[in-house]
Amino acid sequence: MIIVPEKEIAGLMTAEAAFDAVEKVFASMAARTAYNFPVIREAIGHADALYGFKSGFDRAALNLGLKSGGYWPGNAQKGLTNHQSTIFLFDADTGKCRAVVGGNLLTALRTAAAAAVSVAHLARKDAKVLGIVGAGHQAAYQMRAVAAQRPFERVVAWNRTPEKLEGLRKAAEALGLPFESVSLEDLGAASDVIVTITSSFGAILTSEHVKDGTHIACMGTDTKGKQEVDADKLIRRSTLFTDEVAQSVTIGEFQHAIIDLTIRKEDIVELGQVINGDHPGRTSEKEITIFDGTGVGLQDLAVASSVVDLAVKQGVAVEVEF
Ligand code: NAD
Repeated sequence: MIIVPEKEIAGLMTAEAAFDAVEKVFASMAARTAYNFPVIREAIGHADALYGFKSGFDRAALNLGLKSGGYWPGNAQKGLTNHQSTIFLFDADTGKCRAVVGGNLLTALRTAAAAAVSVAHLARKDAKVLGIVGAGHQAAYQMRAVAAQRPFERVVAWNRTPEKLEGLRKAAEALGLPFESVSLEDLGAASDVIVTITSSFGAILTSEHVKDGTHIACMGTDTKGKQEVDADKLIRRSTLFTDEVAQSVTIGEFQHAIIDLTIRKEDIVELGQVINGDHPGRTSEKEITIFDGTGVGLQDLAVASSVVDLAVKQGVAVEVEF
């Protein structure tokens, strides 16, 4: 069995490799050669923790396994990341454990890769201004991955507490992109692509904020009750895409529009269908596209499998008898 410790991931995995892995697995999901198993997420009644599993099987890539972990709010005081996760891969032919891989950085990279894949396939080719809503742990990963997909000339950003945007400013400037902290009104008026990456439980971005032709990647909503964009007018104006419909309507951004009967499941297209050429994606310069990136277990397995291959190639994989 191979172990790839968390500390090795940064030296192995690149945003490009994460993009390739995630694009392939979205295609495989839409072709029904890969499927996610139901998500388990429980408040365990200890340390205020939320713990769960995301798992699945990709028959095309033979990736079988799970990501296990969750959220421990007291970790920061112990010098640890609040979000903790580990990915387990199993041999699809024998069921033997193939690898154990640190999942913390990979989660940020695969989530950012999903937004980037949505931008690559759905945003206008001439997108120039990137808007980021949120300034937490994931925000800079999102910005870097998405910025690589279009010839962006600047980044505008909004956060509930604007002083927290300084980290994002440094990350944008490191990419050579001018950065401005703006109001939501100015962000919507300027942006051709918007990424929302917050843990909000209420709509932040409304239809009034968003101009025609925008692509929005909603990446923060991954739990029942969370919400980042208006579930009525903005949703009605937009063409809707997601990683997986089942997650989108239960724990993703589109759960609210489904509950309100504004849309039906049939109105949501899997991004993999666009990747596979089975759906045209954006069909006009004026169309608003929304990608609801809910975060599926198969993304974790895909990036973990890439990292195992890279670790073996570069001689940093730890092999143990198991
Ligand atoms: P974080 O705790 O580091 O940052 C949270 C961000 O949300 C901050 O910018 C904060 O200002 C903002 N925020 C919180 N409540 C808000 C509100 N009511 N209105 C406006 N802004 C608000 O979190 P993070 O690690 O950056 O993750 C952000 C979100 O992404 C979380 O909801 C997390 O669960 C989710 N996430 C999704 C995926 C996926 O695959 N889709 C993967 C990882 C994380």
